[in-house]
Amino acid sequence: MTRDPVCGMSVDESETDYHTTYSGEKYSFCTNRCKQSFEHDPERYLAHIKAEGSDLRKVVVIGAGQVGSTYAFTLMNSGIVNHIVLVDTNRNLAEGNVMDLRHSLPFVSPVQIDAGSYEDCRDADLVVVTAGASQKPGETRLDLVKKNAAIFGDIIPKIAAENPHIILIVTNPVDILTYVALKLSGYPMNRVFGSGTVLDTARFRSLLAKQCEVDSHNVHGFIIGEHGDSELPVWSRLTVGGVPFDNYCSFCGLACGSSDRDKLFGKVKNAAYEIIEKKGYTSHAISHALVRITGAVLRDEHSILTVSSLLDGQYGVKDVCLSVPAIISKTGIIRILDLQLNESEERMFHESAKNLSGILRELDIQ
Ligand code: NAD
Repeated sequence: MTRDPVCGMSVDESETDYHTTYSGEKYSFCTNRCKQSFEHDPERYLAHIKAEGSDLRKVVVIGAGQVGSTYAFTLMNSGIVNHIVLVDTNRNLAEGNVMDLRHSLPFVSPVQIDAGSYEDCRDADLVVVTAGASQKPGETRLDLVKKNAAIFGDIIPKIAAENPHIILIVTNPVDILTYVALKLSGYPMNRVFGSGTVLDTARFRSLLAKQCEVDSHNVHGFIIGEHGDSELPVWSRLTVGGVPFDNYCSFCGLACGSSDRDKLFGKVKNAAYEIIEKKGYTSHAISHALVRITGAVLRDEHSILTVSSLLDGQYGVKDVCLSVPAIISKTGIIRILDLQLNESEERMFHESAKNLSGILRELDIQ
C-alpha cells in the first residue's frame, strides 16, 4: 500500500491502473483525476508531502469577526498550534484582535500570532474561512447564499493560489459555500470541507445529556444533512454509554416520548436563531467545534466528525455537500461512514439533499 500524493487516500499499487514516474520516483493514484492533477503540477503535491513531515502547525483564519476572533482565542488556549494568522478586509479589526490576543501570551503555551494577507496561506496546514456576511435576526442561512457566494468568488481563488494543505469552510450557508469553494479551488474533495453539523451535533449531545442526566461525553449521536433548517437527528443510532437510546429511556424513567424528542430537536435546530436574537451572533460553541476539527487535522487523529463533505453516491446522494460522519486526519477526509439510516431518516436526508441541490442549481454552479 502507498498513499495517493494528491488526495491522501491509501492506494494499493497492484490494484490501481493509475501510475506515473516523476524525478525517478514512481507514484500511484486512486483515480485518473488525481493522476492528471499530479502530472499537471507535481511539485505542488510533493510540497505537501514535505510539509507534512515538518512540525510547523500553522492556521490562517480568513475573517477576523466574531467567529474568526473567538476561534483564534480558543485555538490559542488549546496549545495545538505554533502560528495563527488573521486576515480580514478590515485590517484594523485583524490588527486589533492580534494585539489583544498577543497580550495573553504570558498565560498560554508559546504561539506566534500575526495579522497577515493571503500570502500567509502558502505554508498553512489549515485555512479556516469565516469571512462573509453573517446571519441577521430573522434571516435564514439560505438567505445569505448569494451575498457570500460572491465574496467566495473573490477569496477562494486567492487562497487556492497559495496552495495551503486543507481549506475548512465555516461561513454560512456552509454546505453551499463548501461546494462553491471546492469548485473554485479545484482541490480534491478530501481537502475542502465545511464545519457542517459538528456544532449542531454538539448542541444535540449537550441538550440530551441534560435531559438524560449524564455527561455529554457519554452521549453518542449525530445531527446530519444541511447545517440549517432541513437538518435531522439520527435517533435510530443514538446511544448513551453504549446503550441504544430507546433502551436507555425505558430504564431511565425520565420523560422522553416522541413529543419530548421533537421539542429537544427543535431547540437544536433553532439554537442559532435564538442566540442571534439574544446576543447578535454565535461564537463560543462554534469556536470549540472548529478547534475540535483543527485538532483532528493537525494531530492526525482519525476522529469521526459530522463535517460537510462532497457526497459522491454515499447515502444515495451525489454532487452536493452535506454533513455525515467522516473520518478526519492530516490528509483531510479519509472515509465517509454509512450510518444505515432507517426509512424515515433516509427520506428526510434525501429531502435535505434535494433542498441544497435546488439552491446549487439556482446559483448555476453544479
Ligand atoms: P462577522 O460579521 O463578525 O465577521 C465576518 C468578517 O468577515 C468581518 O470582519 C468582515 O470584515 C470579514 N470579511 C468580509 N468580507 C471579507 C473578505 N472578502 N475577505 C476577508 N474578510 C472579509 O460575522 P461572524 O459572526 O464572525 O460570522 C462569520 C460567518 O460564520 C457567517 O457567515 C456566519 O453565519 C458563519 N457561522 C457559521 C457557523 C457554522 O456552524 N458553520 C456558526 C456561526 C457562524
